[in-house]
Amino acid sequence: MNFELSDEQRLVQSTARAFAERVLAPRAAERDRTGAFPVEELAELGRMGLLGVNVPAELGGAEAGTIAYSLAMEAVAGGCASTSVAMAVTNMVAEVLVKYAADDVRGEVVPRLTSGAAIAGSFGLSEPQAGSDPAAMTTVARRTERGWALSGSKQWITSGDRAGVIVVWARTDPGAGGRGISAFVLPRGWQTPGLTVGRHEDKMGLRGSSTVALMLEDCEVERGCILGQEGEGMRVALTALDGGRIGIASQALGLGTAALDAAVRYARERVQFKVPIANHQAVQFMLADAAPGLEAARVLVRRAAWLKEQGRPFTREASMAKLWATEAAWRACDMAVQVHGGYGYTKDFAVERYLRDVRVMRIYEGTSEVQRIVIARKTFEQATR
Ligand SMILES: Cc1cc2nc3c(=O)[nH]c(=O)nc-3n(C[C@H](O)[C@H](O)[C@H](O)COP(=O)(O)OP(=O)(O)OC[C@H]3O[C@@H](n4cnc5c(N)ncnc54)[C@H](O)[C@@H]3O)c2cc1C
Repeated sequence: MNFELSDEQRLVQSTARAFAERVLAPRAAERDRTGAFPVEELAELGRMGLLGVNVPAELGGAEAGTIAYSLAMEAVAGGCASTSVAMAVTNMVAEVLVKYAADDVRGEVVPRLTSGAAIAGSFGLSEPQAGSDPAAMTTVARRTERGWALSGSKQWITSGDRAGVIVVWARTDPGAGGRGISAFVLPRGWQTPGLTVGRHEDKMGLRGSSTVALMLEDCEVERGCILGQEGEGMRVALTALDGGRIGIASQALGLGTAALDAAVRYARERVQFKVPIANHQAVQFMLADAAPGLEAARVLVRRAAWLKEQGRPFTREASMAKLWATEAAWRACDMAVQVHGGYGYTKDFAVERYLRDVRVMRIYEGTSEVQRIVIARKTFEQATR
């Protein structure tokens, strides 16, 4: 594996960084305060090719690969974590459709995601009683003349009230456990007849990202809207989550790095005991403890992205990257608040928002405990070879 970035990867990184610095970061505090959904920003990301970084060009994507996607996600998250989560889910949904949708559906729906015409994509897996254990879902899909009618409810759906394209999972064979679940695409997203948007969650952080419940009541989808084969839904979900975890690890890395940078800046400016606090070794050590965690995360993320790009197995590496990066970023954000002292506990400084935004990254797309379960299972499998 080569640690040097290609010209294309550098270009994607610098484009995303420039956008994050020029547009996203200056608006992030206001977005956090008002909860305004980043409609214009997502449209701009679409124009820059960042809503389908690893999607073929013929479907409107940038076709720049998973490492480039990871770099873009890191940069965007450093500017505005709320915008980056909508970007992450849209890229994940676009990739699922590239892999599993029927040709005509893929050709119609994916370009709407990559261009930004659909505003965002949503991923409807979790339910009120089925989070870490999605195979316990109770949403059902009943056969109809045209295809399927879906009934049930989904919980925690990022951008679910805005997304022009939603992927949902439902039980097509109630007696078959995890093997009786199938994945479907709703090409009209939140405007699909039979779908109602429920409660908007009032969250600790990521306040510019909308997180909603979705109710499905005889919500009809065409036969061709099934993704992969009937009963293959859990495989579709797990494949998507493997890739998604690289995105969330990159997101955490971007936010953790922004926190570290903020701590360095503040430590140089703030004077106590007649010297900048950066001169106090205890403060230097706080930064020194956070920096290696983030660097190790960068290596793990890069390696998982590289394996995916090579078409090699990467489930264990994606889980390790997600577990390590989200925990390291959490520690870095907490450290940054500490370096800012009392000011870090106020909304006058971005680190207060970073700490609230980073917290959920240890929870969504599989909690840290679920990542450990995946890593342990894969480690035992490999050790017996
Ligand atoms: C802001 C936000 C956005 C989200 N976006 C989406 C989205 O777009 N689409 C979507 O489908 N979902 C989304 N989610 C849902 C998210 O993926 C779930 O919250 C997560 O998977 C955990 O499920 P849960 O909340 O039901 O917790 P639970 O599964 O109830 O877990 C509670 C606790 O028990 C632990 N636990 C559970 N089982 C085990 C076990 N076997 N061993 C050890 N510990 C265990 C967990 O780690 C956790 O600490 C989002 C969540 C949030 C908060």
